[in-house]
Parts: sequence; structure tokens; C-alpha cells
Amino acid sequence: MCRSDNSRDNRYRASIYVEGKDGEKILVDAGPEIRLQAVRAGITRIDAVLLTHSHADHLHGIDDLRPLTFENPIPVYANKLTYNDLFKRFSYIWAEHTQKGGGLPHLNPILVDKHILREGFSIGAVHIMPIPVMHGELKILGWKFNENGKCAVYITDVSKVPYSSYLKARNCQVLIVDALRIQPHATHFSFDEALDFTKKIYRSQEGSKMLREVYLTHICHNHSHKEIEYYCRAWMSRNNIKNLTVSPAYDTMSIEL
Ligand SMILES: [Zn+2]
Ligand SMILES: [Zn+2]
Repeated sequence: MCRSDNSRDNRYRASIYVEGKDGEKILVDAGPEIRLQAVRAGITRIDAVLLTHSHADHLHGIDDLRPLTFENPIPVYANKLTYNDLFKRFSYIWAEHTQKGGGLPHLNPILVDKHILREGFSIGAVHIMPIPVMHGELKILGWKFNENGKCAVYITDVSKVPYSSYLKARNCQVLIVDALRIQPHATHFSFDEALDFTKKIYRSQEGSKMLREVYLTHICHNHSHKEIEYYCRAWMSRNNIKNLTVSPAYDTMSIEL
């Protein structure tokens, strides 16, 4: 797929960048390609980073945000496991003996504790709510964004959504959800599992009123964009699902709420 002529088949690691209407700039995850992705998207400022989990494909580019942290440290929200891993993997940032050189990344890790899990927090006018989900045996976070009742939910690297988290996720207009491939996987939703989750939300009272667009993400290299579009369309007609866009996400994709 990397060599495909269709640019929508060329996939970097999964990440999203959210802009509020007042210019709030929020990044979810910073994988190994984050520098290339940020340059490509013209990102010059970030007000907060939200981490889903500490797997390399979601975290190992975070110190490349360094030039964006010179004026202000960037708060980095993470659950306990991810928070601890951040200090371990990037210990040089906080170690006393580290040579300062051209400047270290100014990251300000913030633990998503019980209070934040319950109430969420705000960056400007964007309210953000963590959504705990399971990635195999690992407890990780999805994220929900709400600006004046317009909501988007981002859940990547998920194999199970607990009921309480489904309740948190279901009232949204846009859902971006992990769908690795057709074949089942121990720690990721397959296409069918992601679409089953979509159907559950779509059929709920809240979902039927609000859900408008669903995008599959974190797609592996087994399937082309076109093939997945076809898969989604066939699923929609089989399940008689109307007034809903369900399609694969692609790099550089922009969604307006
Ligand atoms: Zn992962
Ligand atoms: Zn991943």
C-alpha cells in the first residue's frame, strides 16, 4: 500500500490535530512521524497534547515537538501507565545531568486522575473528556471533544469498550475509531468490530439523533482505501444504515464539525 499511486493508501502513524473555533490547538498522540506530519499540516503551535497510550507508534516522536515548546511548556495529558512510561522513555528531558544545548522539550505531563476522568477539562472553549478503553490487556484512553454541543470522539487502538465508556462516547456527531484490518486481532478492532460498535451507537437514542460521520483509522497495510470504502458501503446497505457517512480515514484528512 505504501507504493500505491493513490495517496490515500500512504499511511503514517495514527494521530489527530484538533482546532477549536477560538484557535485552540490540540494534538492527540505524537508518533515517530510527528515532525513530518506537523510540517505537512503547517502546525506552528500546540496548546496541549493528549496521549492515548505509550506504544511507540503513538509516543516516540513527542520530543520532536521541542521547537513548539520554547515559548510555553506544552501540557501532556496521560493516564497512569502512559504518564510513567513518558518519564521512563524520555528521562533525559527531566534528568539533572542532561546538557541543555539548543534547549530541551518543555513538556508538562499531567496525570489523568479520577477527577479528570469524571469531569474532563477544558483547553479554551473546547471541553475534553477522557474515555477509558481496553487495548488488549492495556487500559488506554480515547478522547472526546465538545465545543458548544458539537462533539467528536477519537478512539484508536481499542479491542473493547466498557459499557460506561460507550455511554460517554455515544452522543457525538463524529466518531473516529480503530479498525486495523478484516482479520481479527488480539488488541485492535477488526473492520467488523469497529462497524459493530458504530451500529451500537447509531442505534442508540442519542446516536440516532447525533451521529453523522464515522471514520475508520489505524488501518494496516493489508487493504487499500478503495477496498475499505467498498467494504463500508456494503456494510451500510446490508444493515440498512442511512444518513450516515462511514468511510476510511486517510492522512491529511480534514473534518469540520
Ligand atoms: Zn497500541
Ligand atoms: Zn497503535
